[in-house]
This record gives sequence, C-alpha cells and structure tokens, in this order.
Amino acid sequence: MDSCIFCKIIDGTIPAKKVYEDDDLVAIEDLNPVAPHHVLLIPRKHIVNALDLTPEDDGLVGRVFRAAAAIARERGVEERGFRIVQNSNPDAGQSVFHIHFHLLAGRHFGWPPG
Ligand code: 5GP
Ligand code: ZN
Repeated sequence: MDSCIFCKIIDGTIPAKKVYEDDDLVAIEDLNPVAPHHVLLIPRKHIVNALDLTPEDDGLVGRVFRAAAAIARERGVEERGFRIVQNSNPDAGQSVFHIHFHLLAGRHFGWPPG
C-alpha cells in the first residue's frame, strides 16, 4: 500500500533496524522505544488490524507469536517476562494502520495497562 509507513519499511523505501525477517514477517526496533527491548513484528501483508484478519491469516498470527518468543529467548528476557501487544483502533492507541505486534521487555509492566 503506497501511503503506508510499514509497507515502505518492508519494501526498503524507509530504513529501519531489522532484527529478524522471514517470508511472512519483518521485526524491527521501534523508533521510539518505551522499554529496554521494544521490537515491532510486522507481517509483510498489509492487514489493517485485528478486525481485518481472515482465516487465511491464522497461521501468520501463530508465526508472529513464535518469532516474538524466539527474540525474547535470544535476548535472555524470557524468564523475567515480556509482553506482546497489538493495538487495534484509536482507544487502544493504534497510530500505524498496518497490523503489528509490540514485543516489550526489560522492565516491569503494570496491569491493567494505562
Ligand atoms: P501503534 O501505536 O500503532 O500500536 O504503534 C506504532 C509504533 O510504530 C509506535 O511504537 C512507533 O514508535 C512506531 N513507529 C512509527 N513510525 C515508525 C518508523 O518509521 N520506524 C520505526 N522503527 N518505528 C516506527
Ligand atoms: Zn502497509
């Protein structure tokens, strides 16, 4: 999608610090990290948010979660813990309308979220 920041990161038009990629997704460092570890896992397919997922994306979501867990393990934060967050629409704070999953780790996160 021409006007989408994350499509541009995926096609290389906008630079980003990639930490992982495969046929289905790209993982990058967040530009404005809110935790010591803040990685965005972005499916290559332009899906708007959770409301836009179809049955054909079921496997993709599983792969995103397994990639996030692998990155958490690689970084040695798996025992302390980590959070995987997907914001859909304004009340949740979604600001980029190409689905992405935040992997957050390296500090304590409150519950319920703010
Ligand atoms: P959302 O608020 O939609 O859940 O998350 C969007 C995230 O994308 C934010 O954490 C924001 O810092 C990050 N972000 C926005 N634009 C860019 C960019 O151009 N590069 C990178 N690496 N992250 C971005
Ligand atoms: Zn996009």
